[in-house]
Amino acid sequence: MTGLGEVLRDLHRIHKQLTDLRERLAQGPKAVHAGEANVKACDEGLKAAKESHTRARVAVDQKQLQLRQREARIADLNGKLNACATNREYQTLKEQIAADRQANLVLEDEILEGLEAIDTFQRKVGQADRQLQLTREDLEKNRKRIAQEQAGLESELARVTDQLHEAESRLPDDIRPEYLRLSKVRGEDALAPADGGFCGGCNQSLTSQMVAELRLARLAACRNCGCLLYLPDS
Ligand SMILES: [Zn+2]
Repeated sequence: MTGLGEVLRDLHRIHKQLTDLRERLAQGPKAVHAGEANVKACDEGLKAAKESHTRARVAVDQKQLQLRQREARIADLNGKLNACATNREYQTLKEQIAADRQANLVLEDEILEGLEAIDTFQRKVGQADRQLQLTREDLEKNRKRIAQEQAGLESELARVTDQLHEAESRLPDDIRPEYLRLSKVRGEDALAPADGGFCGGCNQSLTSQMVAELRLARLAACRNCGCLLYLPDS
């Protein structure tokens, strides 16, 4: 025959275990969700890197086309030099050719810079791609690990819930309804140790009358927070 204090103590310990198990069970889906958000962010990073690469490629293509068109025009102007009727006409053509050549020198520099940018973006695409693969692999590993952990926690939860019911069955019949009503709403906060004359739930000091009741294995609830009290293991 176990005393009321011992049963309440057991119940409180079991309720705390249940709270802990439920919290750990809730963490699994959160971790998976965070992993999925990581994959999404990496996927978007890869897309952005590919877009930057494409934009740089298109810009260089346009400049190379412009370069070739201007080279063709220079060749054309060179061809016209011999057909010039006046010296002035000849000079104008020469100046045009010189200006086009100068413009193409600038363009060639820009094309070189653009090609370097393409290389850089290409590397970034590779990095983002690898990052995405790693993040996906991580997610899958974590998914499997968490699923296993969840299964373990679920069976632990079932085991501890059985313990709870067993301990509840040890409560005196006149006390059980009050305990069940309170524990249904508050869980582990339905119970508190009366430690050193204080309520372990709210730290309010208890009357000596209440402590005496507890020593006599009678039910006492804290007048401040309503917790069902028990004496801690001595
Ligand atoms: Zn209290």
